[in-house]
Amino acid sequence: MTSPRTQQNYINGTWVDSAAAQVSVVNPATSEVVTVVPDSDASDVDAAVRAAHAARTSWRRTNPFQRAAYLHAIADQIADAVDAIASEITLEMGKPLDEARGEVRKAGEAFHFYAEETTRTFGQIIPNSQDGFTSLVEKEPVGVVGAISPWNYPVELITWKLAASLGAGCTIVVKPSEYSPSSAVELFRCVERAGVPAGVANLVLGAGQPGKALVSHPLLNKVAFTGSNATGGAISRSTSAAIPLSMELGGNCPLIVTAHADVPAAVAGTVRRSFRNAGQICIAINRAYVHADVYQDYLQKVAKATAQLSVGDGLANPGADVGPVTTQEIFDRTGDHIEDAKTKGATVVQGGGPIADLAPGLFFEPTVLADCTQDMLLMHDETFGPVLGVSSFTQLDDAIERANSTFAGLAAYAYTTDLTETFRLGRDLDYGNVAINNVDAGIINAPYGGRKGSGYGYEHGREGLEGYLQLKHLRIHHGQ
Ligand code: NAD
Repeated sequence: MTSPRTQQNYINGTWVDSAAAQVSVVNPATSEVVTVVPDSDASDVDAAVRAAHAARTSWRRTNPFQRAAYLHAIADQIADAVDAIASEITLEMGKPLDEARGEVRKAGEAFHFYAEETTRTFGQIIPNSQDGFTSLVEKEPVGVVGAISPWNYPVELITWKLAASLGAGCTIVVKPSEYSPSSAVELFRCVERAGVPAGVANLVLGAGQPGKALVSHPLLNKVAFTGSNATGGAISRSTSAAIPLSMELGGNCPLIVTAHADVPAAVAGTVRRSFRNAGQICIAINRAYVHADVYQDYLQKVAKATAQLSVGDGLANPGADVGPVTTQEIFDRTGDHIEDAKTKGATVVQGGGPIADLAPGLFFEPTVLADCTQDMLLMHDETFGPVLGVSSFTQLDDAIERANSTFAGLAAYAYTTDLTETFRLGRDLDYGNVAINNVDAGIINAPYGGRKGSGYGYEHGREGLEGYLQLKHLRIHHGQ
């Protein structure tokens, strides 16, 4: 066992120590402490926000083509550091290495995408009723952004905020999750190597305390948050002023498989979207409503495909399908949700418990439960673990109603080959993202966001950049 590394904050272009207490980061595949980070205090956060505030005027005046060049340069640095960043993801949150490499490559693509969008930001000219006046509507950066991210996609979820903020001309302070800080550190080394000016992008490490200090800092102009509903609610009550917030919160995502579905395709989609990243995805399929005509066929095929998933330490087995869950809390909640469902009448058709041979690593069997009902926790709460609940229906209206019946509004899925059903499902599922006959609703050039209890605001797409811009009406009397 090697001794843990200590990570530093990146403030005003310099890697700095903190005098604050420290937080330990554990490898969930082995339960060993692998990293130590400062639980940054209010003075660290203040230094970072002041650095971002001091840099904001010169950065917003930077030519957009120059900002785009910085973003392309960060992407190039990421491309050269894929393995270094990905191995930190796997070490600290457990995602198998090949999957982590994919996340890092997508982060690089997001920087290229926002580099392009940066040069396509423009306003409008509005006609005036009086001669001699011209109204311009210009887009300006909102200012200093505080970005707070979770651990499940520890690089991508920072990237969407960082790339869009920098492209829009904002400066930023990022507070990554305390469970996955080192991939954020490696990402910021790419920012540093790309030559981004001091103070423009800052990184403050630690848990909830620095997060609280950041969102309540009086010099902050926007909060971009991804994380749990509980923390999102706390943040919305703790900002120092009425500043813009974007909230990407939790979900509980339904899948509807109709009588006209291509069942093998639905099964492949289910297994990918339910168990990838050990089910720790805000857009994971948590519950499947399957038409009675195809229910047994679907169930038997899903159970078989799930049983074939390989589970293991993703550093030793980079191609493993499923790694450990990241935290003890998720490990325990996954077991609790399975027990709750069994008590209320569900049947385990695959998996069902922890993998004892891999203890003390937090490995849980990918689990499928049949005959689930809406009162079971896994059918309406967010498990955030490798569990799928399956239920049958006979009327599509009933399936849609059940799919829409929870707090969640992030993503929903359906499989059908019937055109009428396709449009019916596409229009009536009350979610920000609906994928039909596929399970990849998030693409970089389309807006991605939740509704209802899953939050508000958008990442990805042009809209992801617009969230860091504000409008100005500039009315000029020139006499012509
Ligand atoms: P979390 O809310 O516990 O933590 C998220 C971040 O907030 C961490 O960096 C944490 O240190 C920080 N934090 C905690 N308390 C804070 C406070 N009072 N003020 C400011 N910051 C604070 O979430 P998590 O467990 O890290 O992530 C899992 C959750 O994230 C799940 O609910 C998941 O659905 C959600 N998520 C949503 C999306 C989306 O796009 N909607 C994407 C990924 C994850």
